[in-house]
Amino acid sequence: MARAIRAEVARDVEELKNRTGMAPRLAAVLVGDDAASQVYVRNKIAACSEVGMRSEEVRLQATTTQEEVMGRIRRLNDDPDVDGILLQLPLPRGLDRSAVILALDPERDVDGLHPLNAGRLLMRLDAPVPCTPAGIIDLLDRTSLPIEGRHAVVVGRSEIVGRPLSILLMQRDATVTVCHSKTADLASFTRQADLLVAAIGHPAFLRGEHIREGAIVIDVGVNRLDDVREAAAIFGDDSPRVRQVRERGYTLVGDVHPREAAGRAAWLTPVPGGVGPLTIACLLRNTLRAARLRRRPVAR
Ligand code: NDP
Repeated sequence: MARAIRAEVARDVEELKNRTGMAPRLAAVLVGDDAASQVYVRNKIAACSEVGMRSEEVRLQATTTQEEVMGRIRRLNDDPDVDGILLQLPLPRGLDRSAVILALDPERDVDGLHPLNAGRLLMRLDAPVPCTPAGIIDLLDRTSLPIEGRHAVVVGRSEIVGRPLSILLMQRDATVTVCHSKTADLASFTRQADLLVAAIGHPAFLRGEHIREGAIVIDVGVNRLDDVREAAAIFGDDSPRVRQVRERGYTLVGDVHPREAAGRAAWLTPVPGGVGPLTIACLLRNTLRAARLRRRPVAR
């Protein structure tokens, strides 16, 4: 599905290039040296070139001051050749994330983080939909899995995943329950879910007991496991994933226990190779959208 979205984007990029002479251009801002963020940004840059878009990685030291980060963002806002700005989160400790987000030009904000875009989304006005929630809705639609009338339980309420996703699901007429770290008796809610979304950030956290038989389970989590024993407990002693930890030093696991979920869920997204590639595909789509809006013919 991610491939299908990328192919659609590539076709439309070509069309835009023919019409305006310019391919869309994304600036990916990475502050600090978080290993996972570096991989994400590298993948996003590679995905841009695959669909014919231009991109630039803007790398800032972890010691960069708040003012310097915001100044860099403002310069990108003022650059007529930048269509989309992606701010890779999390930011290093000490930086005020809200202030940095507020510095983004809403028209170039391809992850829909700016309050203007988040507000437009709430009001059902045209807006860039945050990439991970957009990918999840696309996944359900392309699989023809119904949303309307279903009970969706979203575990996690972050600004970038859980919260916007819960709004999108509600707008699609699901009945939505949002759970978080203070939810008492989590399993009593998650077991009611027709559609269960895990966006928590704890490896294999949702177990079989959390999942209703026949549920659709979307695992957003991406967690690094570097302990062989821990990997064996989750994937089984003979799993190639355990070998991966031995040979490569780590493997990735979602927020859902993969073996226990596989025994109960009707549908389960894999980690890696599930929500991640869809997120990147939706980032490309949002960048294309921003480029089209910026280059639309001006009415006279
Ligand atoms: P955040 O840390 O911002 O939010 C985590 C959420 O989980 C919070 O709302 C938190 O609750 C909740 N939570 C934490 N512990 C528990 C618990 N014990 N029980 C119930 N809820 C809990 O994370 P993100 O939303 O940014 O990311 C979540 C996961 O998704 C991470 O693994 C991340 O790497 C992954 N991710 C993957 C993407 C992809 O493309 N595949 C994209 C973005 C994220 P509270 O609000 O109370 O603190």
